[in-house]
Amino acid sequence: MTGASSALKDETACQICVTCGVQFAAAAVTPEECPVCGDERQYVRWSGQEWTTLDELRRAHHNEIRNDLGLTGIGTEPSFAIGQRALLVASPSGNVLWDCITLIDEATVNAVQSLGGVRAIAISHPHYYSSMVEWSRAFDAPIYLHSADRRWVMRPDERIEFWDGESKGLWDGMTLIRAGGHFEGGTVLHWPAGAEGRGALLSGDIVQVAQDRRWVSFMYSFPNYVPLAASEVDRIVSALEPFRFDRIYGAWWDRNVGSNAMEAVWRSAQRYKRHLQVG
Ligand SMILES: [Zn+2]
Ligand SMILES: [Zn+2]
Repeated sequence: MTGASSALKDETACQICVTCGVQFAAAAVTPEECPVCGDERQYVRWSGQEWTTLDELRRAHHNEIRNDLGLTGIGTEPSFAIGQRALLVASPSGNVLWDCITLIDEATVNAVQSLGGVRAIAISHPHYYSSMVEWSRAFDAPIYLHSADRRWVMRPDERIEFWDGESKGLWDGMTLIRAGGHFEGGTVLHWPAGAEGRGALLSGDIVQVAQDRRWVSFMYSFPNYVPLAASEVDRIVSALEPFRFDRIYGAWWDRNVGSNAMEAVWRSAQRYKRHLQVG
């Protein structure tokens, strides 16, 4: 019996919001409404607030673990909540789990351990906080979150490490970049070894890969169709400017810009701002 499997047992009381997948602290009574979904960037499902638990989730769902353009993706089947997949960035000095998903089970822990485990978890923004504390405990890994989004943490934990400022260097040249936009602390991960050394950006939906995967977009709210101001788009572009990357990994399976990604960001920002112009 490993520490990992015992860590998976004691959180049966934690409530999970069915719409955004965020897990709440065990001590909390069932909250009336999820604050993440009550925020104007999200929504409460039309049938009303609903809750589940990890135990319930494990009965009807499993995780698919597969290659997604050279990275290991981890996503839940059938899809749950927002439906994002996490990515495991394998790196010589330790792996990063980029973004997070709600379902964690023994099969997933074992599979990720066999790939070298997790040295740290980093998450783009609160919509993917999910059950990050469970993952952190299972792999004994810290969670790096930008401090500007601190108030969206529904399950505080000593393993959460808030960082400030515009960037945070990790190891092997990897950097967390605060891009902002969709959330004040909106973060992307630059992975210089990605795309066979041409560099890659793991962007969640902070830089959102469009259906036409030669393009990206930037929104304050995706489900409620609220755009960002031109000044915010410029801010994102200039935050990325110092970094070289040929590829962008978005938030869902296969939602990636395969090549020429720096140019795609620049071109998409120009197009976006053209459509914001009045008159
Ligand atoms: Zn929610
Ligand atoms: Zn989001």
